[in-house]
Amino acid sequence: MPLFLFNTLTRNKDEFQPLHPPEVGLYTCGPTVYDYQHVGNYRTYVFEDVLRRSLRLFGFKVRHVMNITDVGHLTSDADEGEDKMEVGGAREGKSARDIAKLYTEAFLEDCRELNLLPPDVLCKATDHIPEQIELISRLEAKGLVYRTSDGLYYDTARFPGYSRLVGEDHVRGIEEGARVGANPEKKAATDFAVWKFSPKDKKRHMEWASPWGSGFPGWHIECSAMAMKYLGETFDIHCGGVDHIPIHHTNEIAQAEGATSKPFVRWWMHAEFLVMNSAKMAKSAGGFVTLADLKARGFDPLDYRYHCLTAHYRKQLDFTWEALEASKTSRRRLREASLGLQEEKSAPARADFDRAFRDSLADDLNAPAALASVWDMLRSAMPSGMKRCFLEQAEQILALGLFKEEATELSPDAERLLSARARARAEKDYALSDKLRADLDAMGIIVEDTKQGQKWRKK
Ligand SMILES: [Zn+2]
Repeated sequence: MPLFLFNTLTRNKDEFQPLHPPEVGLYTCGPTVYDYQHVGNYRTYVFEDVLRRSLRLFGFKVRHVMNITDVGHLTSDADEGEDKMEVGGAREGKSARDIAKLYTEAFLEDCRELNLLPPDVLCKATDHIPEQIELISRLEAKGLVYRTSDGLYYDTARFPGYSRLVGEDHVRGIEEGARVGANPEKKAATDFAVWKFSPKDKKRHMEWASPWGSGFPGWHIECSAMAMKYLGETFDIHCGGVDHIPIHHTNEIAQAEGATSKPFVRWWMHAEFLVMNSAKMAKSAGGFVTLADLKARGFDPLDYRYHCLTAHYRKQLDFTWEALEASKTSRRRLREASLGLQEEKSAPARADFDRAFRDSLADDLNAPAALASVWDMLRSAMPSGMKRCFLEQAEQILALGLFKEEATELSPDAERLLSARARARAEKDYALSDKLRADLDAMGIIVEDTKQGQKWRKK
């Protein structure tokens, strides 16, 4: 079955074919580790995980590379302001390196809780300074960079097709909207730093020697350098959020193709924003929600994963607590239905439901339609064993923890009541077992009796 994926570059849903089947090279832009990631960031990572799992379902072998930005990402996309890592360090009285370590670990823990498959290569920008310097040297040899008093800049006018990912109109908008007086040494508003010199007035914590003077790499150069190191000069898919299209990814193309004169990426794929009160969730806007905030309100991170699957990745997704509550309820119902299905090893899933599920994913990863086919199947008269078989396959993509018993801890009091109730039932003292069930219910624990004995879950 062919797989169609929307390509930002062609603005079309194209049939996906990797360069070297069945291998697929996939690069996804990772976090800048100066603070906790918010759930808006995780929407993109969940989309990328569904992409990766779907590629596997369609018979491809994926090599997934993700970067960790731990230097060079400035507070303004116009190559001005301070390094976000230094700002994070100053805020917390720690070094940029300590901040990077802390928030990288927090990010990876969040990814585990969202059931995101770990990348095959997780590469830090600070571990790849020589590769970035080498790429800048190649650009310099081709006359594509020029020097100003604060760094080395890419001369975008010398790269034909600079605007092709985002569109000419948008680039013209950048040029017209450029503030007067903002870095007068730049030849064009779209030119961007590939190397910045250490500021003379202030001692930076992170700097490296280079042929042009000590300093640090620009944010965009790390992704071009590391993607090509691990996936080759031309590879299959590069992903990120839609906010990466106009600057970060546009600049990545200019750097890579400027140096190699070969196509850099065959499919560019971008996830739309998560919006809260009709604005994009962003750190700069304040009021962002982390996974820890969700957990504090009684949500499982996988409830949020379910929520992400309710919208197509190219449509904006609303974040409200009510909507998240609805996703939590849906996931709980789906889990209960899954756990209640009999295991029957010989039962194959029925072909029509399997087909509907795959067709949905083949149509540019239509997760809401795939989810709908799961609900249709559960409502159908299909035998329990077949349903379970289908759900086990669907779970390879959905990864909603459908077959896992809730890993919540019970209080010692609840444990005592549960074992007293099991004893009461074994002794057929149903009056006592009913009373204990009511006591547990009052503690927020629901007990059900099954053939395998009593089962519990939290309300
Ligand atoms: Zn990137």
